[in-house]
Amino acid sequence: METKYSLYYNGEFVQAKRRQEVINPANGEVIAEVAVAEKTDVEAALLAARTAFDKGPWREISLAQRKEFLLRISQGILDKAQELAHIETLNTGKPIKETTFMDIPSAAKTFVYFADNLERLLKDEIISISEDIESTLVRQPHGVAALIVPWNYPLLIASWKMAAALAAGNTVVVKPSSLTPLSVLELAKIIAEAGLPKGVVNVINGSGAQLGEMLCTDRRVDMISFTGSNDVGKQILGYTARHVKKLLMELGGKSAAIVLDDADLELAVNGSLCSVFLNQGQMCTAMSRILVQKGVFDAFVSDFVAKAKRIKLGNGLDYETQMGPLISENQRKRVLSFVEKARKEGAKVLCGGKIPGAPQLKKGFFFEPTVLAEVPSRADIFNEEVFGPVVCIDEFTSPEEAVALANATEFGLAQCIWSQDAEAAQGLAAKIHAGTVWINTYGMFYDELPYGGFKQSGFGKELGREGFLEYTRLQNVLADHTAETKPLVNYWYGF
Ligand code: NAD
Repeated sequence: METKYSLYYNGEFVQAKRRQEVINPANGEVIAEVAVAEKTDVEAALLAARTAFDKGPWREISLAQRKEFLLRISQGILDKAQELAHIETLNTGKPIKETTFMDIPSAAKTFVYFADNLERLLKDEIISISEDIESTLVRQPHGVAALIVPWNYPLLIASWKMAAALAAGNTVVVKPSSLTPLSVLELAKIIAEAGLPKGVVNVINGSGAQLGEMLCTDRRVDMISFTGSNDVGKQILGYTARHVKKLLMELGGKSAAIVLDDADLELAVNGSLCSVFLNQGQMCTAMSRILVQKGVFDAFVSDFVAKAKRIKLGNGLDYETQMGPLISENQRKRVLSFVEKARKEGAKVLCGGKIPGAPQLKKGFFFEPTVLAEVPSRADIFNEEVFGPVVCIDEFTSPEEAVALANATEFGLAQCIWSQDAEAAQGLAAKIHAGTVWINTYGMFYDELPYGGFKQSGFGKELGREGFLEYTRLQNVLADHTAETKPLVNYWYGF
């Protein structure tokens, strides 16, 4: 694996004056050094993207050629899948099974999806107003898109954004999290090998606090697609209040699963474990609140806690590992402080709640799978995003009560319903304020289906037709084919 990474802009890999160390969160060891962008690098990347859009061949090449480039990127990811999975696990700590079977192949698939569908999705729509008046609705790219990516799914989320943005004809400047830049910089190499024209894809690395404002306020940027925390999302809204730009905001969540008395209990327990502890719970869609109906509450909790205690923590590179470390010491401190506060607010810790003591885990940022019960609904942990392996389990009596509890949050990203009554579950879904509702499953993302939150979880969609259209702007070209009948014009000028 490479240990010295450069920035990538205008078709070149560029060293920078400053470099940062990238850490393996499983043991705190340095795994690579990465160039850190300065103001001049951001300037150069933006100029490259702008020039490639305004003057470069990207917009002019045929859609078939654009498709071919995207397919080459996908194939490049697949050719390096094993290496990418290894790098993603080293950099994020997440289990190699997750990176091998989910993150990397899903990233490759997204490029194929948008490659295969771009011609259909970009097709002009003709609307006839009358015999003589016809409008053509044209989907244009926005121009330069700044793509800002978090650390929890570095390659996958970057790929969702890049595949759609490029398929639509935009050029992009990608900014991965400075905690996890490696897989996106590997993707830059794949893109260079795929032969995309220079400046179409540019990757800069550095702290968001230092580079973010510059990137988001630059006049050359037409669109910002952001996935990350609400705090940063709101800062970006602030920047763009001064510079009107198209925004796509995928923010945090405080999702709830509702387990009804008639649920298949084993499925609900196993699915809920995955919905809470996958990726160490560092998922925007984590079901960090599980609401269980009275009749099955005790059975659910006892099975859930027994299984949570058996989750194997370890280095993500070990195939037996089910949960790796959190991304950083800071993240672990944040999770621990939420749990400590919850204890003080009256929550009962059914398992976990602390840093594990095993000697082999000492150097990493591990945290035990944690189950809390009897959490008061006003407690911070019941309302705020923790972003770690911590779940609150609560009891409810009627489905109406469950829906009210599930909706009683400022977020609206996703919810789960576990029930064997398909009709009742659909009925409940209609009452839930969340962009995605999974019934008897969790975490099923498909390239064909739009994904995005309601309320404080953001606006706009990723993936699917709607996700693709976010990266386009709609132009209405109206043609009047009559020589004489211009009612408005005639009226105004009195001819
Ligand atoms: P973060 O908001 O701290 O950082 C996200 C990205 O924004 C990083 O690349 C960061 O460098 C950059 N950034 C930081 N400050 C910036 C600024 N002032 N201007 C511009 N960019 C800036 O989020 P994170 O800690 O990397 O990721 C975790 C968060 O992401 C959680 O809140 C999680 O819910 C959210 N998330 C949401 C989704 C979704 O689809 N809704 C998916 C994954 C993660």
